Parts: sequence; C-alpha cells; structure tokens
Amino acid sequence: MNLKKYNWWMISALTLIPTIGIFGTLSYGYNYGIVWQEPLLLISGWWLAGMGITFGYHRLFAHRSFNAHPIVQFISVILGSAALQNSVLKWSSDHRIHHKKLDTYEDPYSIKKGFWYAHIGWIIERKNIKIKGVNDLCNNKILAWQHKHYFKIAIFISFILPMIIGAFYNRPLGGLLWGGFLRITLVHHFTFFINSLCHYVGKRPFDSASTARDSWWVAYFTFGEGFHNYHHKFQWDYRNGIAWYAFDPGKWAIKFLSWFGLTKDIRKVSEYNIMLAKLDSMKTIIQEQYSNMPVVLIKNYQDKISSLQEGANKIVKSWKELEKEIINHKKSKIKDNFQLAILNQKRKLYRKEFAAVINGTTILMLSLKNGNSLV
Ligand SMILES: [Zn+2]
Ligand SMILES: [Zn+2]
Repeated sequence: MNLKKYNWWMISALTLIPTIGIFGTLSYGYNYGIVWQEPLLLISGWWLAGMGITFGYHRLFAHRSFNAHPIVQFISVILGSAALQNSVLKWSSDHRIHHKKLDTYEDPYSIKKGFWYAHIGWIIERKNIKIKGVNDLCNNKILAWQHKHYFKIAIFISFILPMIIGAFYNRPLGGLLWGGFLRITLVHHFTFFINSLCHYVGKRPFDSASTARDSWWVAYFTFGEGFHNYHHKFQWDYRNGIAWYAFDPGKWAIKFLSWFGLTKDIRKVSEYNIMLAKLDSMKTIIQEQYSNMPVVLIKNYQDKISSLQEGANKIVKSWKELEKEIINHKKSKIKDNFQLAILNQKRKLYRKEFAAVINGTTILMLSLKNGNSLV
C-alpha cells in the first residue's frame, strides 16, 4: 500500500468530523439531554447546505441550467459552502469532467474504480486535479470572491455560526455538535451518494450504456438527484425528476423562484426528445441480445424495430412543428384560447401515439427477456 498516495489531512478531517459528529453528539445528549432547537438545527442545516449544492453548485453553476438573480446566486454560494465540498469553481470543474469523461478512468469519481472510490476514495487520494473548463464561471465576481475566501467562509458558516446559534439558547457546544459536526456528516455522505449510489442502484431508462441510474428512493436522500440516468443523458435540464410528482426539491425551488423573477432562462428538454432517448435505450437493450439469437429471428426483430422507429420519426416530425406553432401562438398579441386548446389536444395525441410506440418496443423487450421467439 502506497501511503504517500493519500492526503492525510483529508483523511483526518473526514474521519474526525463523523466521529465527533456521531459519538460527540451521542455523549453530549446522554449527559445534557436534547433540546428541540438541536434536531431542528441539524435537519434545517442539512437541507440548506444540500440545496446549496443541488440548486447552486450543481444546476445553476456547473450545468448552467438556469440563470438566477445575484442575490439568489450569493445565497446559494453561501449555503453550498456549508457543505464543505470546496469552492464552486473547483466543484464545477471536477463535475464537468465527471460528465465529459463518464465511465472512463479520467472521470475524477469514476464508479469503474469501485463504489468506495466513487463515494469518498477519490477525495482522500493526493490528486492534484487542476481547475479547468470553467472559464464561463471565472468572470462571476461572487464565485471569484468565494474561491478566494473559501476556507474562511466555510469554517464560519459550518462551525462558528452553529456555535453562535447554540449560544442563543445557552448551549454553544450543542449547537456546534448538532449544527456543525453531525450536520456536515449527513451533508457529506448523502451528497457523496450521488457519485456512488446513483451510479450503482436503479434503472437506466434513458441511456442503457451509462452507469448512471434512476432510483426514486435515492432521490429522497439526495435532494432529488436520484434520477441520475436522466441527468447524465440531459445534463442541462433544470430537472432531474421529470414527472411532476418525482421528488426533486431542486426543480421545485427553481420553478418557484421563477414566479418572482428570481430565476429565469430555465432550460428544459422537449418531451419528444426524452421519448426518443427512451426508445433508443430500449433498442440498444434489444440489440445487445442479437449475438445469442438465430439470424432469422434477428431479422424479425430488426423489421419490427425499424417499423416502430419509422412511426416514432413521423410523430416527432409533426410534434416539432406543433411545438413551434404553440410558441408562435403564445407570442402573438391576439390570444385565441380555442385555437390553443386545439393545439394542446394535438400535443396530447402525439404523446399518446409515441407512448404506443414505446409500449410496442417494451413488448419486444419482454418477449426477448422471457425467451419467446415469436414476436
Ligand atoms: Zn454522475
Ligand atoms: Zn451533473
């Protein structure tokens, strides 16, 4: 084992923080009891810092999936600093490489090197990954300020502030343990899960070749980032969970703030492109089975897939035109609600038609899975 390859300062910090966080808080609670302010400090601090990462670091800065008012930018930078995950510039640089070099050894937190490595191993190695690919963010004064003073900001917001809050109810140590050490432990490991668990458990409906996976239950622990297969396929979409009911507080916060003009230029992938990605992913899964199949059967599957794809292409062609029409209609000064209702009905129809294509492809996939040769 090459001990020099590890950053021992980082190992000490990532060992001490959870040790003090868990055992220190337990022992403090045992000796001095628990007051209601402390679990509240833990949960609210965990959520605020986690949202700083998801909303600010990840979607606003690393992916530029929307724009935000400078006040919103500033708040998300401060909250994200409380997650102790380095400055936005460094975080975004690593993250953009992660997307670009996914599933290769150049990916800073490659799951190909194992679950543990993707979770925390990459942080404790003495690697000097230079900041690159973030020129677009370097001119942002808030980010330059945070990068320059990152250590001071992070220490203040993560340790000193919870201690001050604790002093207001006469338990500064309680504030530090619950709102500092234990809170950071939660923020760390639940955001680390995005690099480990989100590349490990779940389904791959949008890109079957990627290690990134969609898992609704992981979304509950990762501030909505559990829909990671979708995210890697369409990284610039402001949503991770696309269904309206999919748990994605990042998405809800971005939309909510847009009603007050605090977020704008929100980027969203069109519905037909999402459906096309689903179809592509299913086609890949079917094609992967060809090597085990007799030629006659392969031909049978190929014919069926081509006709389904042809159907999908026709729908997409008309759907694209329809979306342009809807945009023009909304822009026009004379509002014709009846006409708009007709256009919306058309959209519903295309959605249903495309869903029928997806269902047809699912039946092909299932027949293969069940070993049926007749399709
Ligand atoms: Zn990822
Ligand atoms: Zn991302």
